[in-house]
Amino acid sequence: MNHATRAAKFIGDADRTTWHDETLWFVRTKRDKAVYAVPEFQDLRELASQIKNHTLSKLDFYLEQFEEQAKRNGVHVHWAADADEHNAIILDIIRQHNATRIVKSKSMLTEECHLNPHLIANGIEVVDTDLGERIIQLRDEAPSHLVLPAIHLKKEDVGETFFQHLGTAKGEVDPQVLTEAARQHLRARFLAAEVAISGVNFAVAETGGIVICTNEGNADLGVNLAHVHIGAMGIEKLIPRLSDLSVFTRLLARSATGQPVTTYTSHYTKPADGKEMHIVIVDNGRTKQLGRPDFRASLKCIRCGACMNTCPVYRRSGGHSYDATVPGPIGSILSPNIDMKKHSSLPFASTLCGSCSDVCPVKIDIHTQLYKWRQVLAEANEIPASKKWSMKLMGRFLTSPRALGIGGKLARHGIKFLPYSLTHARHFNVWAVARELPEPPKQSFHEWYQQQEVK
Ligand code: SF4
Repeated sequence: MNHATRAAKFIGDADRTTWHDETLWFVRTKRDKAVYAVPEFQDLRELASQIKNHTLSKLDFYLEQFEEQAKRNGVHVHWAADADEHNAIILDIIRQHNATRIVKSKSMLTEECHLNPHLIANGIEVVDTDLGERIIQLRDEAPSHLVLPAIHLKKEDVGETFFQHLGTAKGEVDPQVLTEAARQHLRARFLAAEVAISGVNFAVAETGGIVICTNEGNADLGVNLAHVHIGAMGIEKLIPRLSDLSVFTRLLARSATGQPVTTYTSHYTKPADGKEMHIVIVDNGRTKQLGRPDFRASLKCIRCGACMNTCPVYRRSGGHSYDATVPGPIGSILSPNIDMKKHSSLPFASTLCGSCSDVCPVKIDIHTQLYKWRQVLAEANEIPASKKWSMKLMGRFLTSPRALGIGGKLARHGIKFLPYSLTHARHFNVWAVARELPEPPKQSFHEWYQQQEVK
């Protein structure tokens, strides 16, 4: 199934689509208010972009510096070339400690590597402790948003899920009651966990430490209670110095949810006395993306989700329509890098309006990269034949002044005689299903211009 087919499923529920659209637009407007309250916000964006560009241009150096410092701090550092290695390393650490109960805070990388199914298949209980993540884990679904993983669900859906899995009353939809039920349920898992897995928001090369940002404090509770902490990070999470961090923490929460800062910004540099800390550094296609000059800037992403909240296509098609770990505009750049064939429809799921690039806190030229991907996919023959041939025909038509003149005249005078059923029939004209065709002008611009010259 391509993006359009999956989106049609989501749009089939018109109320949910409108609600999803409005909710994310509300988050976008919160972001705008937070941004306008910081006069130097554009300077921060520029600085963040430059820091990330610099780090990516010297990634080998900063990775080695980070490893050296982390080892000096008593942290075990592991390198994983791909998802399989990442999963195998983590399972190995868990087995070395004869552990079977794991808590995990939000980590898109472990989602990308499908860590949960791997651990469960090997007899390990793994519990996601972020509330939104736990809800979708109980429902056996994937996250639909980077920051708000259960944003596609209403409180009625959550009430039904908790009734089935956590024993709340049937029909209970009070968010406070539901949150309290989740809290009690998770607390028992936190206390029993032997190993805590976390994501990494930033890794500081100069100190060898990692930084984790959450609003629920779940990463901190898990890491501080368990004997072993495993942090999973992509190679692009590095920043050179600790003094660079504040540039990103000022941008991240404001861009994500309109908060001045995330509730918890925790630094983990070394294991506590008698405990163990591991960091797994993962490539999984990132080096390949780094080697694509047109797309390497996508690795600057700090996963704030702002491009999703503003995207008119994402807001009305839902995160699951992308069928990728990272949905939305940035996901449509990252996913074809991993599997071009599977994700070939994603770069076309965009109006190219540029709103994503405007809000991106690290100034990624998202819509330009989406447009570029379309060209790469066309050259690689990864677009449907109908699109390919219609574009070829259109190209010929638009580059021939004579054909364009005759075609325009025919359309201007003939379109009003076409039956409504033909101009609005889904099979003939998908564009017109939800739109009215505009009234054709009486003359072309060219004709009008010639008249002006005659005067
Ligand atoms: S591409 Fe930019 S706006 Fe989108 S999630 Fe990444 S940092 Fe945020």
